[in-house]
Amino acid sequence: MNRPSRTPPPPPSPSPQSQSQSQSQSQSQSQSQSQSQSQSLSQARTWLATALEEARAGLAEGGIPIGAALYGPDGTVLGRGHNRRVQDGDPSTHAETAAFRAAGRQRTYRGTTMVTTLSPCWYCSGLVRQFGISRVVVGEATTFHGGHDWLAEHGVEIVLLDDPECVSLMRDFIKQNPALWNEDIGE
Ligand SMILES: [Zn+2]
Repeated sequence: MNRPSRTPPPPPSPSPQSQSQSQSQSQSQSQSQSQSQSQSLSQARTWLATALEEARAGLAEGGIPIGAALYGPDGTVLGRGHNRRVQDGDPSTHAETAAFRAAGRQRTYRGTTMVTTLSPCWYCSGLVRQFGISRVVVGEATTFHGGHDWLAEHGVEIVLLDDPECVSLMRDFIKQNPALWNEDIGE
């Protein structure tokens, strides 16, 4: 094929002003991005403290030490609760469902965050997807690896904090109550 050789026109060179403008723009963008990332991480840790309080309350009642809280987009707590399998003889009251029920009816769950001390089981992961909860803050996924990867694959923002207190709470509990724990996770 005989193609006429053509010299391509030179690429438009941005004026130095607009270049430095766009550079500083992208710099401040990445700055504010990492800023908001660390902000949301410190917020996640603050919110986890509420879930941890619930977990400790559950333990003090002789229950399974898993706590959760549902937070609204504006950072207000909508509901909080803990696993009540032992206390109520109700295997369907997980920490997340307790927090979800305590929040009552919400018009939308867009922008809400479920904070839980332990990676959510399939049942609670299903709840997150069913109602379109936007984000899940997970205290730990070491003692139990639930559905948080699956949730991430389906567009739910996951913040895994790997919190040592959440781990030791569950580790000690499982060691002392292996049968109860196996009952809770259906094994
Ligand atoms: Zn659950």
